[in-house]
Amino acid sequence: MIPQKAKILIIDDEEQNLISFKAAFRRTFDIFTANSAAAGLEVLRSEPEICVVVSDHRMPEKTGVKFLEEIRTDFPEIMRIVLTGYADLEATQDAINKADVYRFLNKPWNETDLLATLNSAVEHFNTKRELEHKKKELENAFSELSRFVYSASHDLRAPLVSVIGLINLAKMDPNFPKDDIYLPLIEKSIQKLDEFVKNIVDYYQNKERKESITVINMEELVEDAVHTLEFYRQESNVNFEKEFDIQFPVVSDEFRLRVILNNLISNAVKYQKKDETNKKIMISVQSSADNVHIEIADNGIGIKEASLPKLFEMFYRATNEDSGSGIGLYIVKDAVHKLNGRISVESEHGVGTKFIVDLPNKSTDHENHAH
Ligand code: ADP
Repeated sequence: MIPQKAKILIIDDEEQNLISFKAAFRRTFDIFTANSAAAGLEVLRSEPEICVVVSDHRMPEKTGVKFLEEIRTDFPEIMRIVLTGYADLEATQDAINKADVYRFLNKPWNETDLLATLNSAVEHFNTKRELEHKKKELENAFSELSRFVYSASHDLRAPLVSVIGLINLAKMDPNFPKDDIYLPLIEKSIQKLDEFVKNIVDYYQNKERKESITVINMEELVEDAVHTLEFYRQESNVNFEKEFDIQFPVVSDEFRLRVILNNLISNAVKYQKKDETNKKIMISVQSSADNVHIEIADNGIGIKEASLPKLFEMFYRATNEDSGSGIGLYIVKDAVHKLNGRISVESEHGVGTKFIVDLPNKSTDHENHAH
């Protein structure tokens, strides 16, 4: 197949220039001509494949630079070249600032120079178009992949939740052998799998969801997180101490706050010392007009200092105890950032860990909206 010649449009009010341009370059390019800006626009509209426009600057109805500036919005990809008979400083400035002209060439043109300029303009156009195409492909592939992961994870949760329900029923069944060793192992594995799947769903939703700002009952949100944990992990021997100092109603995105609390509280439970007799988790929330301050502290295994800088990275795990996926804190950090907040951690290995979250309280914005 013969490669298609690149399409170039030349606009000049002097017919002779159009003829000589065509004669000089028709073997290399597919040349279109127009003797006015209006005629040029018509050609552009009927020939969508044109990749370079060369325009004379001095034309009776409109300057070349003005014309190129005007077509920029409708044909942003097209490479623009101006030909001018004499040095015109104003035109040069406009060409650079407003029309984003690729090159500025003097008239009468030097054929070799002009050919080189046209070739490089076409190459530029092709590269830009290819890049744009690849970018779109990449964006599509990414969004397809994340939608697939999301819907697969979402669909996986239903059977997992039903297995967890069945395990609970079996445990309550008086006919079920009390000394069965398999059921607790199945339960533990299923819970981990469910936690991982839930994390993936949260990750996707945190990325994609539009912010939805409401007044939030923090006591209820914390209570929910603790209850969910008790249901899933049967951690009844952990003491929760809760402290709320809500000076101003907390106004934020409930979904993201829930993700933050669930993950931090679940870690505080998960990384307790196995032999600790007084397992403790302190949760405190303070709100002012413009800030929500949350602290979640535990007396668990703690984190080594060397691990702290990497803690919020995706898939990073600071311990081999209790097999997690290392995605929870990454999602927490992402959710905190989405809310324009800050998160930090203080920890001492073997003693305990405290996560501190500060979020802007949108209390005042919300009131303004409400009135
Ligand atoms: P996961 O818990 O699935 O491993 P996370 O991203 O939630 O993943 O946490 C990353 C790592 O940070 C954990 O593997 C653990 O080593 C450490 N970590 C998180 N929270 C605590 C905590 N409260 N106490 C001790 N270590 C923690």
